[in-house]
Amino acid sequence: MEVYIGGNLQHVISRVELSCKEAGRSADDVRLVAVSKTKPLSFIKEAYANGQRIFGENYAQELEDKAKDIGESDIQWHFIGGLQSNKAAKLVKNVLPYGKLVVETVASEKVANKLDNAMTNFDGTVLDVFVQVNTSGEETKSGVNLDESVTLCKHIVDNCKRLKLKGVMTIGAPGDEDCLNCLVKCRQLVADAICVNPIDIELSMGMSGDFENAIAKGSTNVRVGSTIFGQRDYSK
Ligand SMILES: *Cc1c(COP(=O)(O)O)cnc(C)c1O
Repeated sequence: MEVYIGGNLQHVISRVELSCKEAGRSADDVRLVAVSKTKPLSFIKEAYANGQRIFGENYAQELEDKAKDIGESDIQWHFIGGLQSNKAAKLVKNVLPYGKLVVETVASEKVANKLDNAMTNFDGTVLDVFVQVNTSGEETKSGVNLDESVTLCKHIVDNCKRLKLKGVMTIGAPGDEDCLNCLVKCRQLVADAICVNPIDIELSMGMSGDFENAIAKGSTNVRVGSTIFGQRDYSK
């Protein structure tokens, strides 16, 4: 099946811009992460040729391989999959030589500490991270609960000097607005706990099915995959 990545990307960008306009927000406030998981390098290259510089990947090894093979140092790779603590240092070590890295799925102190430690090898640079929050309560979704998110964010701010807490992230149940509302509430709790203004904490929420709604609710980081790159095929 032919996928028109350039056109799809432009269309998603227009929809992001329109949603921002409708919400009275600046289009610069929302980052579009093009989720390229399972897709070949050629798809990423085509999006890159069309100006996209931010890509999301779910599997550590796949991200590491793609960052190296593409070799474009101005790409910002967002890791959005479950991260095991024993894979955290390797991810940092294997991606940072080739591009920028943001880890959106920090869900334990152990992972935060491992990432923080791994950054000692990259003198002076800090790693941007999000804390992943399970807003749907589904067992199958990873992430910490609301109370734990406050503790974990505080831990990162207080103890992980080489990490920068960018915000909170959720996947949510498809079509369930309560999950978006829950993340907005989470941001407020975290902001209160670490004594910052809520607008200084980003919200990573919104995927192909709900990114416009997520922007209306204040998302600053939408992660869109299939609408740009086509349906994923997990059969191979
Ligand atoms: C796959 C994935 C996306 C993108 O999903 P689409 O519905 O294809 O846009 C966004 N966020 C996460 C965490 C994902 O795993």
